[in-house]
Amino acid sequence: MALIVQKFGGTSVGSVERIRHVAQWALDCQAKGDQIVLVVSAMSGETNRLVELATQINPIPYSREYDLLIASGEQIAVGLVTLAINTEAAKRGLIKPGESRARGLLGHQIGILTDQIYSKARIQEIDTTLLRKEISRQVIPVIAGFQGVDSENNITTLGRGGSDTSAVAIAAALKADDCEIYTDVDGVYTTDPRLCKEARKISKISYEEMMELASLGAKVLQIRSVELAAKYRLPLHVRSSFDPVEGTRVVSQEDLGGAMEQVVVAGVAADASQVKFTLQNISEGPGVAAKLFGSLSRAAIVVDVIVQDIPSHGVLTVSFTVGKTDALKASQVLDEIKRTSFPAMKIVEERDLAKVSIVGVGMQHHPGVASKMFSLLAEAGIDIKLITTSEIKVSCLIAESQMKSAVQCLHQGFELHRL
Ligand code: ASP
Ligand code: MG
Repeated sequence: MALIVQKFGGTSVGSVERIRHVAQWALDCQAKGDQIVLVVSAMSGETNRLVELATQINPIPYSREYDLLIASGEQIAVGLVTLAINTEAAKRGLIKPGESRARGLLGHQIGILTDQIYSKARIQEIDTTLLRKEISRQVIPVIAGFQGVDSENNITTLGRGGSDTSAVAIAAALKADDCEIYTDVDGVYTTDPRLCKEARKISKISYEEMMELASLGAKVLQIRSVELAAKYRLPLHVRSSFDPVEGTRVVSQEDLGGAMEQVVVAGVAADASQVKFTLQNISEGPGVAAKLFGSLSRAAIVVDVIVQDIPSHGVLTVSFTVGKTDALKASQVLDEIKRTSFPAMKIVEERDLAKVSIVGVGMQHHPGVASKMFSLLAEAGIDIKLITTSEIKVSCLIAESQMKSAVQCLHQGFELHRL
């Protein structure tokens, strides 16, 4: 008997029909002898709708009340899924009138304790007492993803896509055997199939590669969920709720096989919504970067690529990128830094950029991967604006309008269609 945490994303609970399907699936799995815990997202489009309403009132709405608002989508989904399971269980004769087979639970009701960083809260602790009690009497807990509660009882949310992280954290806390992430695609692909029709499904991928792909714009999993899964060595299975085929297993590098079996490039990722800030004419001196990025991080802005030039004539240039949603806040923070610390600083903002990246653990043992990427882009007439690398990835910032052709030429050039 295995303990399985199953997370259903927005499209998987997007209609009453899909919700009935989830209820049947969960009961079928339970009937096979497994213990099931469900984590659900808001119905598709619901969180966007709430965000849209809030931003009509305030373009930067992040606050306690914003979290309270956007967490509500999951409550609806939990209510409906639980209702569906209990209705189906009664129909199947599994329960008598007045009994239930599922119990809907919000973040605060099971003590998903987080810090107080609204809209980007991190889970600190999960109390499993109630969950264990329910599981032991064959009741399926149906838990609201994406939300938690801080030490002062305020509702917090974990960042967009955060119910993946809820599911992994709950699975880790329960020491579950498996954590299944049900979505509208049947796995993780070598690249976004909407950008390149040659994309192939990956059967097994390492946490490290998945983290890079997730952070680079493959929207299948929230990056923090993969970080967390890696930390607890919890295997993830990304699969479709529309098709019961085997999906993609996210595992440790050891479980992937040796260096021989590792592909050089596992995937090509693309992230369209990039904004680049270039700060020129900053007077050089110790602590410049600390001051700049300290202010940005205190404003909870996630900075991505950072490039600092070698200072000349006492001044230096620093460039960095942020996601489009953080750009307005970043530019406000920079104006403030200019006013208080670097009056001569010039701020240049460049929009409509994209980041394309190649990722693969096999890169560690193969020379020449980066240069091949640059040649492929050059042959396609694509200009590179910034380059960054890590052990297992190479990223280039390019014009957003060229993103699709960049992905296609890299996918082709690294022969990912042959996998
Ligand atoms: N409903 C939330 C969102 O749309 C959380 C999630 O779907 O994972 O971001
Ligand atoms: Mg998601």
